[in-house]
Amino acid sequence: MQLTNRSKQVSNKEMTFSERMYLPAIAGGLRVTFSHMFKKGATVQYPEQVREHSAVFRGQHVLKRDAEGRENCTACGLCAVACPAEAITIVAGERQKGEEHLYREEKYAVQYDINMLRCIFCGLCEEACPKDAIYLTDRIVPSNYEREDFIFRKEDLVETVALEGRIDITKRQKDK
Ligand code: SF4
Ligand code: SF4
Repeated sequence: MQLTNRSKQVSNKEMTFSERMYLPAIAGGLRVTFSHMFKKGATVQYPEQVREHSAVFRGQHVLKRDAEGRENCTACGLCAVACPAEAITIVAGERQKGEEHLYREEKYAVQYDINMLRCIFCGLCEEACPKDAIYLTDRIVPSNYEREDFIFRKEDLVETVALEGRIDITKRQKDK
């Protein structure tokens, strides 16, 4: 049965003297190799060099605070449920009296971990969050040698209280 019409008859003709020497074929191969030496390389020397990303690039997450510096996350768990890679682990806690300046609502995340080895940077956690608490940023997750170092804890994810240290996610949101 013939599946395509691209089949070719195999030639059994005798090789010529120059074909038996293989020199023309070797010279042809070297010509291709040398021609690539003078072309601009496709690779970059990461991490010294970083490629320019698209405005909608999805990188390392950030847990946002409100204008008063309180954590937005209420540990509702919707991001963890939406995550197709099951990369998010949350432990909820109850806000105590006197902690109103730390957490915006009565519940907050005592523990909030993202396993960056599982994460596929789909952005579904960001879409699911009803509290504007989690966003993906244009930051690249740093390379590492230990698997444990790819579990990002709440301390690694939550942004600084100081306004000047905050991560601007508005450009990505605008171009989405
Ligand atoms: S970006 Fe996607 S895979 Fe990564 S934590 Fe969020 S929902 Fe999970
Ligand atoms: S980040 Fe958003 S969706 Fe996830 S637990 Fe916190 S408030 Fe809920």
